[in-house]
Amino acid sequence: MTDDSTAAANRQARNARKEAYLRAIYDRYTGQFRAAGDQQALSVARSAHIAMDAVLQRDRAKTPGSGGIRCGKGCSHCCHEAVEIWPQEAALLVEAACDAGTALDRARLERQSRYTVDTWRQQPAADKACVFLGGDGACTVYESRPNACRKLLVVTDPALCDAGQRQPDSVGRWFSWEAELMESAALEIFGAALMPGSLLAALQQRTSGAQGMPAPNFSGPSDAEP
Ligand code: SF4
Repeated sequence: MTDDSTAAANRQARNARKEAYLRAIYDRYTGQFRAAGDQQALSVARSAHIAMDAVLQRDRAKTPGSGGIRCGKGCSHCCHEAVEIWPQEAALLVEAACDAGTALDRARLERQSRYTVDTWRQQPAADKACVFLGGDGACTVYESRPNACRKLLVVTDPALCDAGQRQPDSVGRWFSWEAELMESAALEIFGAALMPGSLLAALQQRTSGAQGMPAPNFSGPSDAEP
């Protein structure tokens, strides 16, 4: 074999190992989420959020680029975008709002629920904001925010996140493969919906959920990549 073909073969083998490693992570989370599907919604969401935080913390600690993450309290451009969540997260968000004594703006949720990911930005400016976004630009349900929000981290100037101003592809994201795979698995197993419709459904179902089931334990983070 020539040096070039040896290098190509090694590259191919490395890619195959990485693909198998990522597939195993995805399969592990889909298996865990499928097994947890019947458990109490709030426990499932809380456990998945704990697992997501652990994965992000682990991956941020080992990735030098994560030191440049610019997200911070009061920076809320991403809270004006369409956010996909799963039903257990909606139940937890409604619970958190009720616990905090925060009345959800049902009228805005109804209006927002008529929009899709593709049409979201066609709404009047005031309606694009997440119903949990406070007047100070901070999330009012931060501890219970969805995994889609937890894993959305940028390393570029926060001003570039303003959808009304930015150029396509101008926002630089830091991301964790495992966090992305975990969220994809959750959306696949639990079902994805935009936050407004999901919250309206959770508000209706709030009193009918099962209570008192033990919390599942989602076992992130994974072993190190080979
Ligand atoms: S839940 Fe909180 S972090 Fe997520 S979009 Fe709404 S205000 Fe922003």
